[in-house]
Amino acid sequence: KIFITDQCSEAYLNDRKYVLHSWSVQSKVNPPVITGGQGVWFWDEKGNRYMDFASQLVNLNVGFQHPRVVEAIKEQAEKLCYIAPSFANDVRGKLARKIVEITPPRIAKCFFTTGGADANENAIKIARAYTGRHKIISRYRSYHGATYGAISVSGDPRRPPVEPGIPGIVRVFDPYCYRCSFGKSYPECNLECAEHVREVILYENPNTVAAIIMEPVTGSNGVFIPPVEYGRRIREICDEFGILLIADEVMTGFGRTGYWFGVNYFDIEPDIITMAKGCNSGYVPLGIVAVSDRIAEFFDNRMLYCGLTYSGHPLACASALACISVYEEEGLIDNARKMGAVVSAEMAKLKERHPCVGDVRNIGLFGCIELVKDRFTKEPLVPWNGPPGVMAEISKQLWADGLSMYIRWNYMFVAPPLLITADEIRWGFEKIDQALEIADCFVQK
Ligand code: PLP
Repeated sequence: KIFITDQCSEAYLNDRKYVLHSWSVQSKVNPPVITGGQGVWFWDEKGNRYMDFASQLVNLNVGFQHPRVVEAIKEQAEKLCYIAPSFANDVRGKLARKIVEITPPRIAKCFFTTGGADANENAIKIARAYTGRHKIISRYRSYHGATYGAISVSGDPRRPPVEPGIPGIVRVFDPYCYRCSFGKSYPECNLECAEHVREVILYENPNTVAAIIMEPVTGSNGVFIPPVEYGRRIREICDEFGILLIADEVMTGFGRTGYWFGVNYFDIEPDIITMAKGCNSGYVPLGIVAVSDRIAEFFDNRMLYCGLTYSGHPLACASALACISVYEEEGLIDNARKMGAVVSAEMAKLKERHPCVGDVRNIGLFGCIELVKDRFTKEPLVPWNGPPGVMAEISKQLWADGLSMYIRWNYMFVAPPLLITADEIRWGFEKIDQALEIADCFVQK
């Protein structure tokens, strides 16, 4: 209420009066009213323009209002807006087939959901049904969604408020090379973070473990890009004990890393891949659980206890087909890789210029600038899961300069739409460069 004045628009007043905002103390919410967007830019009701360096929630991969995706939704809306999941339908079948074609060869069939969290919920159900085991191994610094099961497998601090959550979740340490939980450095570490997973499995009793769920590259907990051998070793460990590997590609899928999927970087084949976000750039809610041939066959003669009213929604499927054809025909995955090199170069310059920059890392257009008070001790500029402190000042300056970034704790994420150009990236980094001067003042001399 403290933000309400005579000048507020009806859109703002309705929002503040009637909308509950995600992950927020409601009285502290003061959202700009967004009225439009095009490509990598969006604007508010006052005419201020912002470059989107976060693709909204790392989902708007083809940018705002891509005409081909908009057209596909319009065409499908005129043809058939909804048909129940029990029927066959042209766009639903076509999309399932397309997903099977672009994922690793082992993937054979798809179950459609409405987003990332329910994709992971259903992946857990499928893994438990297929293996007859109940435990799921996940990582501490992970996020898999906000519904009860998905938040339970997450390690992210958004999870403890809903504890005890669902039973049977076991968490392990992460492949976070900059802050190795084992105090080691790659490659002398001999991948202790992967061997630790094996040890935990032994203590838990391998015959009780259904699956390991992992983001191939950790997303909102800090963009950890593991060594290629890490992914391969986790696959080997799963095979050794008959454990399924679930790759949560909700953020990493559909070109974000410069590969179709994060697992392509490791060159491994998971048993289940969960997807959402970039599958249709968020134009219509959609999630996908893609399963291996063996899992698909298992359900040939058994009940699949999964179902959603909006499973395989025709508008969502049509938008995903159009979005995938944009990735293919406009070379966006290639562009993500090329622009990833521009991001790496710009990040390296920031690290040279700013003592507050502790680490920079990116794979394709998925990057993170990690800020510290002291490069030697690596003390984070603001504490993990603590109040934003100086980071709020940085956000404010970036926003005033027209750059929209996803900032969490001491992490600044770089994840623009995949069609961004080198000049646009450099423009964004100029703004970051200026804003980091605020943070440099907090570095211990
Ligand atoms: N998995 C990962 C890796 C995510 O980053 C997210 C959302 O950020 C989710 C799952 C949850 O997806 P949704 O918000 O669509 O439920």
